[in-house]
Amino acid sequence: MNLSRFHGLANAGVQALRPYQPGKPVEELERELGLKEAIKLASNENPLGPSPQAVRAIRDAALNLERYPDGNGFRLKRSLALQLAVEPNMITLGNGSNDVLELVARAFLGPDSEAIYSEHAFAVYALATQACSARSVVTPAKDWGHDLNAMLGAVTSKTRVVFIANPNNPTGTWLPRSAVVEFMEQLPPEVICVLDEAYFEYVQMPEYPDGMRLLRRFDNLVVTRTFSKIYGLAGLRIGYGVSSKEITDLLNRVRQPFNVNSVALQAAEAALKDQSHVQASIDANDSGMRRLEGEFGRLGLDWIPSVGNFICFAPRKDAEVVYQQLLERGVIVRPIAAYGMPGHLRATVGTTAENERLIEALEAVLR
Ligand SMILES: *Cc1c(COP(=O)(O)O)cnc(C)c1O
Repeated sequence: MNLSRFHGLANAGVQALRPYQPGKPVEELERELGLKEAIKLASNENPLGPSPQAVRAIRDAALNLERYPDGNGFRLKRSLALQLAVEPNMITLGNGSNDVLELVARAFLGPDSEAIYSEHAFAVYALATQACSARSVVTPAKDWGHDLNAMLGAVTSKTRVVFIANPNNPTGTWLPRSAVVEFMEQLPPEVICVLDEAYFEYVQMPEYPDGMRLLRRFDNLVVTRTFSKIYGLAGLRIGYGVSSKEITDLLNRVRQPFNVNSVALQAAEAALKDQSHVQASIDANDSGMRRLEGEFGRLGLDWIPSVGNFICFAPRKDAEVVYQQLLERGVIVRPIAAYGMPGHLRATVGTTAENERLIEALEAVLR
């Protein structure tokens, strides 16, 4: 192996780290294949985009960029606190909720500690854990979702953090309230549980728990949410975590002073006020999801039922080949071999027109 002079000097976790593979950008595909009008259904973005009110706030914020942002995010925290019925000093704002996941890792993980997460879980848990040179303990999945008993069974005296995605990305699987509560009751109170609710707003199931309500009972819980998914602001990078005041204070110590930019702060506040846009996004996702499931059924494909704005399907043929052939037709989905799912592809529910493009392309490729 021809490693550079510096490889051996990096922190142990960093040496073994494989960077995150993002979905392919539309522009990159168009450049590579000389295509026009490619569509991207690869990163679970809201196909409706952000609220027009958020876009207006972004324009206004652009007039004051010479100033540093409010490092405490006072106004946004106040709005969030009201909406979520929590105290502002329980909120940590992040450069995406990804940032908050890393703050938890940085505050609580190190070379002598362990973090637990599930097979097929969101890739950032592994990255955040490894970047801190902590040990990753990966528990086997059950029906593609988290096996909470296996996760409890993996807890040792070195466990500091357990990451749970509800629903999980890429599988779209979810855990009911009773399962999460039972898990929290059995988890040692000195182990931090990160409940990642990036797709919270999309989930319609009556048994789906609201992490904010669990915070009152469990002070070792960190609930994370984001403006990247249903709020359509993935490009601005803003999300948040909610936790006990004590944990929030610790996260604040490792946070960059200005980790969230002023445009994102103002846009998020405006986006939060436009709940009719959230509802329209839920409705569009529901009908799009039904359409995709119906068409997968017609094409004889297996899929994993999902409560998010994305769905994993098994394309019958080699998934990597199908991925490439969809690319040639200008449709970008997400290969998920890196998540231990080489036989599946993940597609984001798009606009009606985008969903039809996906179905048409899939039908052509599988014929
Ligand atoms: C997209 C996603 C996130 C993070 O998104 P941000 O853009 O960083 O807020 C976190 N968790 C899961 C499960 C996701 O799918």
